[in-house]
Amino acid sequence: MLNLKICPRCKGGVVLDRDHWGWYEQCIQCGYLHDLPNIAEVELSLAQEAKRKVSGLRKRGKG
Ligand SMILES: [Zn+2]
Repeated sequence: MLNLKICPRCKGGVVLDRDHWGWYEQCIQCGYLHDLPNIAEVELSLAQEAKRKVSGLRKRGKG
């Protein structure tokens, strides 16, 4: 499981997980649940997170 998002209710950590029905995200603090309709949304979240990390690294530039 991965910490990817911030819970809209309590600003706690949200983890991604999947069961028989598909992917969903759940807050580890308050139990907030949000179904993810398809894997594309999961991949989008992962991509955005990765992009944020990369842009952080690239800030240093030459030198
Ligand atoms: Zn929460």
